[in-house]
Amino acid sequence: MTPETAPALAAVRAEGVDFANSHSLYPTVTTPNASAIATGHLLGDTGDFGNTIFVGQGFPPPFGSALVAVEDDVMLGLLNSRYGGNFLGETTLLQAARAKGYSTAALGKNGPTAIQDVTARTGADTIVIDDSSGFRGEGLPMASDVLVAIKAAGLERPTPDRGLNGSGGAYNMPGVQVANVEQQNWYVGVATNVLLPRFKAAGKPFMMVFWSRDPDGTQHDQGDSLNSLEPGINGPTGKAGVRNASNDLQALRDSLKALGLDADTDIVVTADHGFSTMSRQSATSSAVKFRYPDVVPGFLPRGFLAIDMARALNLRLLDANGFDVETAKGFYPKAGAFLGADPAHPSVVYAPNGGSALLYLPGPDAAALAPRIVAFLTGEDYTGGVFVNDALGAIPGALPMSRIGLIGSARTPQPSIVVTFRSFSTGCADPEICGVEVADSSQQHGQGIHGAFSRADTHNFMAAIGPDFKRGFRDPAPVSNADWANTLAQILGLELSSNGHARGRVMAEALAGGGAAPDAHEIVLRSEPAANGFTTVLNAQEAGGETYFDAAGAPGRTLGLKP
Ligand SMILES: [Zn+2]
Repeated sequence: MTPETAPALAAVRAEGVDFANSHSLYPTVTTPNASAIATGHLLGDTGDFGNTIFVGQGFPPPFGSALVAVEDDVMLGLLNSRYGGNFLGETTLLQAARAKGYSTAALGKNGPTAIQDVTARTGADTIVIDDSSGFRGEGLPMASDVLVAIKAAGLERPTPDRGLNGSGGAYNMPGVQVANVEQQNWYVGVATNVLLPRFKAAGKPFMMVFWSRDPDGTQHDQGDSLNSLEPGINGPTGKAGVRNASNDLQALRDSLKALGLDADTDIVVTADHGFSTMSRQSATSSAVKFRYPDVVPGFLPRGFLAIDMARALNLRLLDANGFDVETAKGFYPKAGAFLGADPAHPSVVYAPNGGSALLYLPGPDAAALAPRIVAFLTGEDYTGGVFVNDALGAIPGALPMSRIGLIGSARTPQPSIVVTFRSFSTGCADPEICGVEVADSSQQHGQGIHGAFSRADTHNFMAAIGPDFKRGFRDPAPVSNADWANTLAQILGLELSSNGHARGRVMAEALAGGGAAPDAHEIVLRSEPAANGFTTVLNAQEAGGETYFDAAGAPGRTLGLKP
């Protein structure tokens, strides 16, 4: 983010608070970080462990699989209904704000947007407008006066799709060449022509979350670098995605100024995660030895870890819908997998999340399987690091999940094992900018991905400006996406819940009149070595009573790790 590449983002950072030592929460994917941004709690409490999670039993059709995609408004409602009315188990900041009489809205990308007020599903309280809005049976309802105002502003209905930004290409066809400009212009139009004027007219304080799909959507799907790690996400299309998000921020600031709301409005900007270029290469995986009709020969297919694990453990491999996967016939599991004789009672559940994977061991053989799985993982070159649920005891080669904030009051099933895939840099001056990671997702080798425990993925963008923040302040203290809600609740006098105790902190040093930044000290944790010597190392920082996770994995397999 420079004044040249992202002028509005750079301006907020330079004129307000620059959170230079910022952190995405691990796994560095969208809905887990959305849950932390929304509630101020770490993922061990929110239970939003990934964009794809295991829920024990499937829901009624069409959601019959016990592996579910969280980025879906209908699924969020199903998760709430199963897990106590609010699957996150904590108050969100928007919920606390509307309870105090604020006007509230969230708009933007499907999934993280609705999570910001996860129990607001009627259109009567927080205004939620996302990619599904207006699609019968998919989106959340909107109040009729909001619909009328959108129409009166000359904006089309329903939410426009991504157009030319919407197709990620294929193994033999480059992805997109344009940013998500048209769809996001629509959201900006709704924000500036409908919501902000409405809030001003109401004469009450307001809180609005604008969840920009860019740069994420464009960096994932860019067609600048098909089957090549360079330029990867740093090509012209990826940069256009960053610029698009910056331009939208500028449009929002211009609108606040035009409405006379700028002097008493705080603006905070955070990215859910960093970004890397995706690798589909491995020298050890057995999955690359088969031929698949839509995978470059010799590259990893989706589900490679499940394919390899099924072979190593001699278990039957089923896809997310319970069908046998025959790799010899060119099939691979596309959206997770079940391992074991009976798909209704699997031994292992595999939930891919880009640069990481969640493994669940729901069967009675979990304690016996876990050390075998960890031993298998440490023998594959794509494994970056391994974490094991504390309930399974210490396993050589892995660190306990409690040390990375993944054990708490979660209502959803806890993963048994979490794997981060290997990460490295292509050798540019700032390695975090040109990170690469092995990942299991739909993207091609050379497109964009995230989810790993590399510093390229944990180092997100965070900045703030407004009357409650210091000006021209570079905050050296570690901060994370779990700190926003706590800090904003403090500014606004709102109450957040503490059903779980894994909470972020108030970033008091960044506030107008706030004191000096808290002292931080570095932590290095090392697992016992596995039989083959594989060791998972964690780099973290402690400040203000909280722990911040920089990078974790085996030395030599993890970008940004200080061994
Ligand atoms: Zn993404």
